[in-house]
Amino acid sequence: ATMPPLLSAIATAGRHGVLVKSAVAMERLGEVDTVALDKTGTLTEGTPEVTGVRPLPGSGLDADALLALAAAAEHPSEHPVARAVVTAARARGLPIVPAEEFTAMPGRGVAAVVGGRRVTVGRSEDPAAAAAAAAAAADATRVPTEVRPPARPADGRDSTPTGATTVLVSRDATPVGTLTLTDRLRPDAPAAAAALAGLTDAGPVLLTGDNAGAAARAAAATGITDVRADLLPEDKVNAVRDLQRHGHKVLFVGDGVNDAPALAAAHSGIALGGVGSDLALETADAVLVRDDLTAVPAVVRLSRTARRLVL
Ligand code: ADP
Ligand code: MG
Repeated sequence: ATMPPLLSAIATAGRHGVLVKSAVAMERLGEVDTVALDKTGTLTEGTPEVTGVRPLPGSGLDADALLALAAAAEHPSEHPVARAVVTAARARGLPIVPAEEFTAMPGRGVAAVVGGRRVTVGRSEDPAAAAAAAAAAADATRVPTEVRPPARPADGRDSTPTGATTVLVSRDATPVGTLTLTDRLRPDAPAAAAALAGLTDAGPVLLTGDNAGAAARAAAATGITDVRADLLPEDKVNAVRDLQRHGHKVLFVGDGVNDAPALAAAHSGIALGGVGSDLALETADAVLVRDDLTAVPAVVRLSRTARRLVL
């Protein structure tokens, strides 16, 4: 007996390095007409490195003290930024003191009490929100009325290399420094984006929580023209829902715990296995188990062929 087309497509997808969870999931993958991609950990490798440590004047911190402070707050987090900060601190032999009252703010950053002082590490675009969220979680009387972002470094953020992002470190709601992180584009990202553009009416859409500059550079390097940056996890969900309200069936491709809501809202979802969070893996229709993003368009094509054979 010959295998039903959708099952044999699942077997072929497996050889491409994509684990499709069921025949129904296989079918959904071929129904999509729009693809939305996350940036960090999806278009990029998701293992950034700390390439800049800048204490702010007046903070009383040197680079090592700033990095150690950030690492203490980030230690409990599994976010790629957090792993990079902890790795950099360890590489310099810095002590990482245990933090208390750790809180993760998805898509924003982290907050924790380190040595009795409240430390936040997060988006530099939004220091007031990050500090206010951290303070609200603990001591409402400490909510700052105004928190100014740090002055731009003299070299300017636009001169940072492709894939760079900057996060702000604050102590007791006062900015004390910035960390710059550099991620590498996946080598197969441009080919995957081009193949996806060929399979859908419009090209892929980039949805990211990172800043507009980092998003634009990743998009330019992969030939993606529809870019939406500075999105919180719920903004990613709304972007997916909005596309679907306009009659599209969206495939969302992402890796992080922050991507799970968008994966759930989309018609179909693929999670990246290597760096992916457990929640993303659970929510997706399929998991990319090999480091090859071109398997995404390949599996959409496989599903379309199988569906034609079923109908
Ligand atoms: P993406 O959509 O690109 O995967 P995320 O939604 O995970 O990005 O994060 C968006 C932004 O929020 C990051 O670029 C970073 O500035 C900030 N951020 C998120 N988590 C952390 C963290 N643990 N430490 C510092 N910054 C963080
Ligand atoms: Mg991500």
